[in-house]
Amino acid sequence: MALWRGRDKIIISMNTSSLSSSPRRLVILGATGSIGHSVADVIAHAPDHFDVEAVVGGQDAKALAQMAVRVKARHAAIADDRAYDDLSALLSGTDISVAAGLDAVIEAALRPADMVIAAIVGTAGVKPTYAAVSAGRTIALANKECLVCAGAPFMAAAQECGAVILPMDSEHNALFQALGHRPLTSVKRMTLTASGGPFREWSHAQIDAATPEQALRHPNWSMGPKVTIDSASLMNKGLELIEAHFLFGVQADALDVLIHPQSIVHGLVSFEDGSVIAGLAQPDMRVPIAHCLAYPERIHTQVTPLDLAQIGRLDFAAPDLERFPALGLAYHALRTGGALPTILNAANEMAVQAFLDHQISFLTLVRSVGQVCEDMTRAGQVSAITSIDDALVVDAEARARSLSILNIFRTHL
Ligand code: NAD
Ligand code: MG
Repeated sequence: MALWRGRDKIIISMNTSSLSSSPRRLVILGATGSIGHSVADVIAHAPDHFDVEAVVGGQDAKALAQMAVRVKARHAAIADDRAYDDLSALLSGTDISVAAGLDAVIEAALRPADMVIAAIVGTAGVKPTYAAVSAGRTIALANKECLVCAGAPFMAAAQECGAVILPMDSEHNALFQALGHRPLTSVKRMTLTASGGPFREWSHAQIDAATPEQALRHPNWSMGPKVTIDSASLMNKGLELIEAHFLFGVQADALDVLIHPQSIVHGLVSFEDGSVIAGLAQPDMRVPIAHCLAYPERIHTQVTPLDLAQIGRLDFAAPDLERFPALGLAYHALRTGGALPTILNAANEMAVQAFLDHQISFLTLVRSVGQVCEDMTRAGQVSAITSIDDALVVDAEARARSLSILNIFRTHL
């Protein structure tokens, strides 16, 4: 129910500052990534409506400096403090201020802004996004790992501090739009679609032998490496089920996944009277980004209009949990609750990196995540997550467990 309660606040607060009366002030966390670039595209198309207070990046000073100049930010903060000198040099001669380190990232997240775009990848996004939530900011949330790692404290803080969370992930954004003003009590089911990724039609043996280069070749979406690998294993959809649970307060049994190779229908809400409302759009993140940035208004984007006659057909199928066991693992974590989603998320992040580094096979990636979940469940390390600190302790334990499991797999490669 969290988003529902939150949305009442959105409508009240957003009505007070319309886009045409004053530009919306943004902080962009993860500004140099795939989402960050799409945000910059949307802003470039509607420059009078937005004003960028700060941009935040991880390590790449050159990319962050370029982005800061592109979106005319007032401030640029980089997480890696060794990159401070480079960033300062690159931005000398501009009036963009510069800072580095985790404290600087959090300070940037807390700068005065109408909206904070949470688009850092992985658990690294938890602390800065949580800081913005705790300050009662409006968050456009792309970083699903925040909710998978620490969904309960995140949503509790949002409610307590009056923060609003707008879903930027395309499926959740479609669900949010399909839900409209209807009460969640009238919802029977929420369905998230998945393209099926590059291995949708591959055999078990082919998937096992897949290389990072093959897994990075997504048929429909152009995204950062972590979410692309997650899309190939379907772990992305698993993380999104957990994200949907926390965002909308819907239980596991009312959430399902549909394979839809064209990625045109992104989410479907089934109501108790049998009506189903679906959210459709081109597979282009600029659509949900524009929806969040302008909410509750609408702005023009450069996205090609959707032409269903040209697309001709839309296919749907049930997911194959045998070939894509990550989805089953995520369902299990969602149903079990407690710290298991946190553990799943941390183990997955470790295994994705090991796979990208050519250290483990694709099948081992998912197998190692299952092993970490199983070991920590057996050790009784899955009790409820009540705070961000709790979540980060469990996250660190799961990473340590994952490391030792990955070391065993590595030696067998
Ligand atoms: P990306 O890898 O392209 O970009 C990640 C960004 O995070 C970069 O700006 C990087 O510098 C920054 N970053 C990394 N570590 C950091 C740290 N320690 N501190 C501060 N910044 C750090 O990733 P992406 O594809 O843009 O995805 C970002 C998030 O959005 C992910 O959580 C992903 O699941 C989600 N998402 C992405 C898409 C997409 O189309 N790319 C769609 C839906 C959801
Ligand atoms: Mg998504």
